[in-house]
Amino acid sequence: CGIVGYVGGQCALDVVLAGLRRLEYRGYDSAGVAVLADGGLASAKKAGKLANLEKELADRPLPSGPTAIGHTRWATHGGPTDANAHPHLDNPGRVAVVHNGIIENFAALRAELAERGHALGSETDTEVVAHLLSEAFSSCGDLAEAMRQVCRRLQGAFTLVAVHADEPDVVVGARRNSPLVVGVGDGENFLASDVAAFIAHTREAIELGQDQVVELRRDGVTVTGFDGAPADDVRTYHVDWD
Ligand code: GLU
Repeated sequence: CGIVGYVGGQCALDVVLAGLRRLEYRGYDSAGVAVLADGGLASAKKAGKLANLEKELADRPLPSGPTAIGHTRWATHGGPTDANAHPHLDNPGRVAVVHNGIIENFAALRAELAERGHALGSETDTEVVAHLLSEAFSSCGDLAEAMRQVCRRLQGAFTLVAVHADEPDVVVGARRNSPLVVGVGDGENFLASDVAAFIAHTREAIELGQDQVVELRRDGVTVTGFDGAPADDVRTYHVDWD
């Protein structure tokens, strides 16, 4: 339902949690975050309000790092439980993904992954994406390219945002039939399903086009189509509402 991603010099987890708060008005049933720090990936997720997640983070703090993603979920596939909350991770937890929308061909992808020995732990349509990204990253070593390969296999409506522990300064996003906006900062960049999540930090925004993938670094934003061709329709605009 609500998605936030951040890479930059601030405490990424704080930026993402504040962004999720700004998206609360949309409604949700669960919330979660993932942070890249110390060469690894750490995550927390909880059914219920953001306050539940914040209590979990107070009890079991995550390490602080420059790169994080977060999600507020409105369940479509699988009940509103801790296990079904996003982010979803591969096994052994090097990649994390959050998702808005519905992956319509998830059952076929799930069966295919099970055949290749993947153990999936949730009832969501989303979890297949974490496992497919993990496989694709293993062979190409580039998260944006892995995202393009996976998106070409997905049907339905989706905004996806992912991080990988082997690319600690990168957040990757993708969209089809569901919104995703980049917030362009100075030495920091943001991704969100809605500009409300980042207008406290920047009002320079790029709306991703249909079937596009974005790679976000502290100092750069690269947009391509799902086919890998550089996007020629990238325009930065100024958000002038409050
Ligand atoms: N279909 C996904 C799920 O049920 C994402 C729902 C959403 O947009 O929050 O987990």
